[in-house]
Amino acid sequence: MPAFTVHLRERAYDIVVERGLIERAAGRLGEPARGRRLFVLSTEPVWRCQGSRLEEGLAGMEFHRLSMPDGEEHKRLSTVEALAGQMVAAGADRSSLVAAFGGGVVNDVGGFLAAVYMRGIEVVQIPTTLLAQVDAAIGGKTGVNLLSGKNLVGAFHQPRLVLIDPAALDTLPEREYRAGLYEVIKCAIIASPSLFEVLATRRGSVLARSPAVVDELILESVRIKADVVSADEREGDLRRILNFGHTLGHALEAETGFERLLHGEAVAFGMLAAARLAETAGVLAPADAAAIRRLIHDYGPIPPLNGVRAEALLARLGSDKKTIGGKVHFVLPDRIGHTQVLSGLDPEMIRAAAAEALAS
Ligand code: NAD
Repeated sequence: MPAFTVHLRERAYDIVVERGLIERAAGRLGEPARGRRLFVLSTEPVWRCQGSRLEEGLAGMEFHRLSMPDGEEHKRLSTVEALAGQMVAAGADRSSLVAAFGGGVVNDVGGFLAAVYMRGIEVVQIPTTLLAQVDAAIGGKTGVNLLSGKNLVGAFHQPRLVLIDPAALDTLPEREYRAGLYEVIKCAIIASPSLFEVLATRRGSVLARSPAVVDELILESVRIKADVVSADEREGDLRRILNFGHTLGHALEAETGFERLLHGEAVAFGMLAAARLAETAGVLAPADAAAIRRLIHDYGPIPPLNGVRAEALLARLGSDKKTIGGKVHFVLPDRIGHTQVLSGLDPEMIRAAAAEALAS
């Protein structure tokens, strides 16, 4: 399968999407790891499911395993400090290479560890969840959470290489897989009518994780993300389109204490609300809005949102990182596969769209 190239101002890196790639990892890692010590970061659950495949893939290569506890609550500075200490103890130096093998949490922590270890070493991302394969591992955003909020400490640190093996998803729990599918749906709505069509017409194969269709979803989503981050390395205007569904989605995640919903599920809610908002703001045709809502519901259900109030979500928008100069910007579709950014929308219109999505 093809490699995509992300073009950056200073250099470029490849994203390889290939089924079975993990068992052949040495073929791709050999060159970046030549003459360097390789540190493979993972969590025990990921290693239990996928570690033997990577061990096979790295046969003949020497590597040192780093392990972090599993879960979002460990995406913390203290984890990075502990891992950096383990690297020092194992003799890592400025030429060492980190391979972050896991979901988005491992990719974010591994990327940030590499960004700050001895002022910066290289990282290869090997994402193992759908969400990480189509989103977290691409684009160079790395970081950890503070008690006061998500991703508040971090760095842009572009990977040397991204290795995506769709077969890794065979062991992914159903709920995690569906949460990742919502990010694929996001890619379809913002940039790809053909991807939207695949999702709408081949739902059974998508949910059954039929290899051909899973590979197709990943390839198209990766192409879109690689194109956007190539054009906009540091989150200027263009990259903002990737935030579709994230404005109200983040508010919902925060309002539910980051516990009730997975990130993708919160984004699904945010996309439902944004589709309604686009429709009432007059930028999206009712038929397209209905098709978007149908697709999101078809891949549901989103866990029940009872008890969450639209007013509370609205109150949280002001503190979002996407608020610029006090104005909340919304990425809204104006047709399937295309978006525009609107700001200064009537708060009552936003509240009503959120309330309707909460009730749906
Ligand atoms: P995650 O990393 O917590 O993984 C979810 C669960 O799946 C974990 O329990 C993990 O052990 C398990 N798992 C991973 N791969 C598996 C496999 N192949 N088989 C079986 N189990 C497996 O969650 P996630 O959804 O992958 O990532 C969420 C994180 O990504 C969040 O912290 C979010 O902020 C971050 N993120 C970052 C970016 C970015 O641009 N940097 C973008 C989107 C999300």
